[in-house]
Amino acid sequence: MKQLIVGNWKMNLTRDESSLLVNELLKNNFQNNVEVVLCPPFISIQLVGELIKNSSIKIGAQNISEHESGAYTGEISSQMLKSYNCNYCIVGHSERRQYFNETDELVNKKSKILLSKNIKPIICVGETLSQREENKTAEIITEQIKESLKNFSETEILNSVIAYEPVWAIGTGKTATTEQANEVHELIRTLLAQLYNREVAIQIPILYGGSVKGENALELLSQNHIDGALVGGASLKSSDFAKIIVSAKNS
Ligand code: PEP
Repeated sequence: MKQLIVGNWKMNLTRDESSLLVNELLKNNFQNNVEVVLCPPFISIQLVGELIKNSSIKIGAQNISEHESGAYTGEISSQMLKSYNCNYCIVGHSERRQYFNETDELVNKKSKILLSKNIKPIICVGETLSQREENKTAEIITEQIKESLKNFSETEILNSVIAYEPVWAIGTGKTATTEQANEVHELIRTLLAQLYNREVAIQIPILYGGSVKGENALELLSQNHIDGALVGGASLKSSDFAKIIVSAKNS
């Protein structure tokens, strides 16, 4: 499977900073076995989309409304994303779960509406530090996966991406060890095989996220069950992000 490297810019970068970063990235020749996706804030999707249009880089969003359209002031619909050629959308990032009370039920609704418009949801799951310390990682991940994927058809799951992001490793500089990450990825793969079947499970990209940098990317991406990375901080600097993409190529 192609490695998938997704940059989550979060609430960063002005218009000029966005252009600068994308133009720097475009100087690299990313092709072939890595799919690169940039997820800027909504307001920069059009600009970034224009800049990357003749490249292999794809565009994604960081969030989506669970509603089709209508009187939802401040919200953005999946139909709008589609009209700006968005191919991916992050759903249920731990920051959305923590600060905006997103539940697995909402993640499920948002993912379904994206899939109905042929946009791939990147569904984030992950345990907090206290849950890990209480040995609840497997239980939490299982619950999040089962609930987020509720009533997904085989076609829907085959068009989805899972991102395992231990909450304690996001933006903290702490990375899960390769063993810790691979262990949870394997658990997710097994769960997907139980919910669907092995054939389906091996086709679903499972990304790792949590302080991925140029220095640790190769080791993480070389693990059996790690199919790519969801990158926050290091996606804001072209040289760091490019290093991660090159690691994915070499993994
Ligand atoms: C993220 O935002 O999904 C993330 C993993 O952030 P960071 O790489 O900064 O830890």
